[in-house]
Amino acid sequence: MRDGFLLVLSGPSGVGKGTVCEALLNKRDDIKYSVSSTTRKKRPHEIDGENYHFLSIDEFSQKIEEGDFIEYAKVHGNYYGTPKSYVLDKISEGDIVILEIDVQGALQVKENYPEAVYIFLLPPDLQELRNRIEKRATEDEETINLRMNNAKDELSFIDKYDYAVINSEVDSTVKSIESIIEAEKLKVTNIQGVEL
Ligand code: 5GP
Repeated sequence: MRDGFLLVLSGPSGVGKGTVCEALLNKRDDIKYSVSSTTRKKRPHEIDGENYHFLSIDEFSQKIEEGDFIEYAKVHGNYYGTPKSYVLDKISEGDIVILEIDVQGALQVKENYPEAVYIFLLPPDLQELRNRIEKRATEDEETINLRMNNAKDELSFIDKYDYAVINSEVDSTVKSIESIIEAEKLKVTNIQGVEL
């Protein structure tokens, strides 16, 4: 069986990465979502093990020591990390594994997996981004400002990505990402068994 590949999706807080991932996962069963670990507090609607594995700082540190993460980073004051075994297992089973991670994490992944597909999700504009974060109403004013400043920093790393997709409307964003996936599958380096 042909190996799958890694699809790294980044973009500022509030851009809609979660909604886009959910729509992609509902539409296709060849895509698997990698559930990260985090030391952030659980939001009321979140489910442990589904949205994140919510860990204490000690538990997170132990995982770092045991080499359990492909990458980890401190984002908006909390730690987040991507589980190595899940990701590598699914890729070897032929799946596309989607990582919804920040820019620092994506750059770490790129060091070890330069062949992964790197997609940056953009908001239609920055004011729209603030509106979306405020609408979510799970963050206080200080956190909203921190996330807005981080968004501006993150945008400056866009040239490290292969693709930029503007998320104005979920359905068309999903279609764009599916086109990227189809193109990726057709890359000469990803085609096996062609006899000349
Ligand atoms: P949130 O707290 O809003 O769920 O996520 C905050 C940020 O952390 C988002 O930009 C999200 O993409 C990023 N993030 C989530 N999981 C990971 C991870 O495993 N590694 C890294 N580096 N960033 C992550």
